[in-house]
Amino acid sequence: MTLYFAIVSFVVGSVFGSFINCFAWRITHHESILKGRSHCAVCGHTLGALDLVPIFSWLFLRGKCRYCGEKISPRYMLTELLLGAAFLVSFLCFGFRWEAPRLMALSVALLGLSLVDLEIQEIPDGFIIYGIVLWAVMLPLLPEPVKALWQGLLSGFLIGGGVLLISLVMDKVLKKESLGGGDVKLLFMVSLYMSPLAALFNLVLACAVGLLFVAALKNEKIPFGPSISLASFATVLVGERIATWYLGLF
Ligand SMILES: [Zn+2]
Repeated sequence: MTLYFAIVSFVVGSVFGSFINCFAWRITHHESILKGRSHCAVCGHTLGALDLVPIFSWLFLRGKCRYCGEKISPRYMLTELLLGAAFLVSFLCFGFRWEAPRLMALSVALLGLSLVDLEIQEIPDGFIIYGIVLWAVMLPLLPEPVKALWQGLLSGFLIGGGVLLISLVMDKVLKKESLGGGDVKLLFMVSLYMSPLAALFNLVLACAVGLLFVAALKNEKIPFGPSISLASFATVLVGERIATWYLGLF
C-alpha cells in the first residue's frame, strides 16, 4: 500500500514537474500561459501525447526532438525527476497527513520560481501570492492551526523584516543592491511555513547553499531564489524535528 502511494506520488510529481517547467518557460518567453499546446522550442512542432510522458519521453527520444532532431535540454527531464522526488519524499516523510500535499503544492511553486529566477533573475509576485494563499488555506487542516498561525506570522515578519532591514543597511554601505526584493518576499513567504527557530535555521541554510553554488559554479551572479527554495523544502520537511531536537539539548 505504501509502495503504491509512493509510486503514485512520484508519478504525479513528475507530471507537475513537466507542467511547471513549461509554465516557467512560457513566463520567461512571454508566451500565453493558458493558450496554445506544448511545442518544440526549436521547430515549434506541436507535441503529441507520446512526447509528453514525463522523464520517459526524454529518455526514449534520447534528448532529441522527434520532429526536427534538435537537442532538447536535459532541463525537462531534470525538473520532472526533481519534482517527482520532492513529492515522493514529502509522502515518505508525512504519510497521509495534510502536511504531505501542503509541501507538494509548495514545492511546485518553489521549483517554478527557481526556474524563472535562474533565467531572468526575477521572482514573479504570483508565486509568492500562491504560497501565501496555500499557507492560509491549509492552516485549518493542520494538527495545531492556532499555533501554526501565530508561529508562521512571527517567523514571516521576523525573517522577512530582519532581512529587509539588513539588506537596506547593506545597500547604503555598499552603495548597490545587495539582495533583490523578490528574495525578501520569498523569505517572508517560506518562513510562514516554519516556527521561528526553524525559519532562522532555514535562512542560515539558504545562505550556505547559496555560497556553495557560487563556489561550485565559480559565478557570483547566481540568483538566490533557487538556494532559498532548496533550503526551504528541506526545512519544511525536517526542520521542525531538528529544531525540537536542538531545543531538547538544553
Ligand atoms: Zn523540434
